[in-house]
Amino acid sequence: RAKDSGRGVYAFFKREMDESIRERRGLARELREAIATDELVLHYQPLARAEDGAVCGFEALVRWRHPVRGLLPPMEFIPIAEESGLILPLGEWVLRQACADAAAWDNPLRIAVNLSPVQLHQPDLPALVHSVLVETGLNPSRLELEITETALFKDFQRALGNLRRLKALGVRIAMDDFGTGFSSLSTLQSFPFDKIKIDKSFVENIHRHDRATAIVRAVLSLGRSLDIPVTAEGVETPEQLEFLRAEACAEVQGYAIGRPAPLAADEEEAPARLTSHR
Ligand code: C2E
Ligand code: MG
Ligand code: MG
Ligand code: MG
Repeated sequence: RAKDSGRGVYAFFKREMDESIRERRGLARELREAIATDELVLHYQPLARAEDGAVCGFEALVRWRHPVRGLLPPMEFIPIAEESGLILPLGEWVLRQACADAAAWDNPLRIAVNLSPVQLHQPDLPALVHSVLVETGLNPSRLELEITETALFKDFQRALGNLRRLKALGVRIAMDDFGTGFSSLSTLQSFPFDKIKIDKSFVENIHRHDRATAIVRAVLSLGRSLDIPVTAEGVETPEQLEFLRAEACAEVQGYAIGRPAPLAADEEEAPARLTSHR
């Protein structure tokens, strides 16, 4: 009997798994279409100088306006895109769109774009970035590419070579989600990053756990020692903002400053005003 019920459980999980594989395949197929048909949209979240709140740039965050499922956050399709290889055309779309948008802004603010580890391992990434910069006319110094430390985990030398070539183009390289990977410090030792972004999991606990407070202070101090400006992400409360200011954090990003929102021209399609605190 125990065996029977075990088999039942197995069959149940097998069914669930088959279903989720089918669903992922279906989504991958739809995503291929979505990239070609303009269903992807970029939302922009402000990055502000901690000292006085002046906006110094925006981070592009991709969403999928799915015709049936509604507006999907990246968590629900980036992993699928990475598995299926679609992250390459998707990432290229994001880069081109973000650079074109930023090139049209009145102020020469910085534009931050997230790179997937898969993109970072493409030998032709520097050539792609170069041609997008030329095409859009964006000054390279305005482009900031965000990578996570896990991106450097696999085939470290190749990734490092790409980072060096990107930097030689004049673009800035930021380390995203700092502190959540396995090799944060050795990564910092291997490459001269232009920015460190403290992961929001530490920032959200600043006033909840002494250890989080200590870690945030330590990262800020590390940034000072290495002469790398630090950005805190996920800043939600005035208290967190005050703390970061007092600790001389360079830049802040989070709901306390502004939520990710579409550009004004896209506002009809997504009600930015409901979510924007700017
Ligand atoms: P990330 O690069 O660390 O981006 C920050 C995430 O934190 C965003 O989530 C943003 O909406 C969210 N966030 C910002 N402020 C706050 C806050 O005050 N509180 C909280 N709780 N969250 C805040 P989002 O847009 O869902 O993006 C999630 C992740 O998806 C990004 O994390 C990034 O790793 C990835 N992603 C987004 N766009 C792209 C893209 O174009 N390409 C690639 N490869 N990855 C992307
Ligand atoms: Mg990011
Ligand atoms: Mg981050
Ligand atoms: Mg993150």
